[in-house]
Amino acid sequence: MPLELNCTPELGHLRSTVRRFVRDRLEPIALAIDATGQVPDHAIAEMRGQGYLGMRLPPEQGGGGFDLSTYCLVMEEVARSHRVFTLMMDASSGLTPIAISRFGTPAQQDKYLRKLADGSWIAAFGLTEPGAGSDAAAIRTLAQPCEGGWRIHGVKHYISGAHRAQVIMVIARTDPAKGAKGGITAFLVERGTPGFHVDRVDKTIGSDPIELAELRFDDCFVPHDAVLGQVGQGFAIAMSSLTSGRMGVSSACIGTADRLLELAVEHVKVRSTFGQLLADRQAIQWMLADSATELAHARSLAYETLRRIDAGQDPGPATSMVKLYCSEMAGRVADRAVQIFGGAGLIRGVPVERFYRDVRHYRVGEGSSEVQRMLIARDLLK
Ligand SMILES: Cc1cc2nc3c(=O)[nH]c(=O)nc-3n(C[C@H](O)[C@H](O)[C@H](O)COP(=O)(O)OP(=O)(O)OC[C@H]3O[C@@H](n4cnc5c(N)ncnc54)[C@H](O)[C@@H]3O)c2cc1C
Repeated sequence: MPLELNCTPELGHLRSTVRRFVRDRLEPIALAIDATGQVPDHAIAEMRGQGYLGMRLPPEQGGGGFDLSTYCLVMEEVARSHRVFTLMMDASSGLTPIAISRFGTPAQQDKYLRKLADGSWIAAFGLTEPGAGSDAAAIRTLAQPCEGGWRIHGVKHYISGAHRAQVIMVIARTDPAKGAKGGITAFLVERGTPGFHVDRVDKTIGSDPIELAELRFDDCFVPHDAVLGQVGQGFAIAMSSLTSGRMGVSSACIGTADRLLELAVEHVKVRSTFGQLLADRQAIQWMLADSATELAHARSLAYETLRRIDAGQDPGPATSMVKLYCSEMAGRVADRAVQIFGGAGLIRGVPVERFYRDVRHYRVGEGSSEVQRMLIARDLLK
């Protein structure tokens, strides 16, 4: 039985409801995605029907008005099925929607949030560039003021789902002399804006539908009302989105690891070698015990941090610790699960193999393990 998030009966009930939905409705879709590499059209409708899109946006903006703990609990449960469902939650209630909700003008909120909350539009988050990944403040995309607005020039890459998104939050330099403090601004750029091109779509080690786009802004004009927040506030907006984003990623790691451990336990109870079940072998038991212990540790760290965030307390470097620990834990649990399954864990498209590839993203995306360690150490040494 997992440690319970904040232990309230409501959250316990929600977990059971989501788990049933994931098993009955999302699992068949996950198997279809494995078989075809395509996400069927009704997948998003299933998520919308349950209220799992736009969960963190306020009700007056078309969202569910849930706190971060509740969002993360649902994220954890849907991650037991397929990473695609976690991305749907993120595109409707993650980095960009939350930034619009917190920093957008009423007109921007009206324009975007209802469509994002019901999944009819998708938002992407455009920060990384070929010359600026971990060192995000080194971005070179430039936005220059002009009559009526701004002209954006530059390239972004590895932007999740941006080729399908209707709106992208683009982080650009507006005052090269000032750098991250005051010299970077966030813009909301819509698909179809002249000068905005999708040059490439990359597949990754992960499952087929997870694609990253390379975007080019070639003298791309956006009006003044495309600025999100204040001019010069863009780096702080991006970093504040990433702080709560780390908790979502961590919850996906916990959910995936939980499912992998469950699959491994089921497998060892039926697979015999040398006349005995794998479940009776101490070498196998120890792998399961290590995974269970690390999973429990990840949950304690994540749930305590969520409790502090929802209570309005500053979590400090705890979000980095959670992201670091959960993403590395998921990698170890996935590796052990593949080992326990043997050849059956390496066949393309079976869930264990697919989870193994998908969890590899988590140690790089939304701030790599090294960047999280850097942030934790910076706090220790300040
Ligand atoms: C699946 C996936 C989805 C993504 N989606 C998005 C998205 O939607 N939007 C977006 O803007 N970006 C996105 N990214 C990009 C992601 O944020 C970057 O890949 C990440 O920040 C690392 O940057 P990089 O790839 O340029 O690696 P680099 O910055 O070149 O780093 C390479 C390696 O060096 C390490 N390293 C770097 N600096 C240091 C240091 N000072 N000390 C020690 N080690 C260091 C890094 O940890 C890494 O291991 C995504 C990436 C992935 C994998």
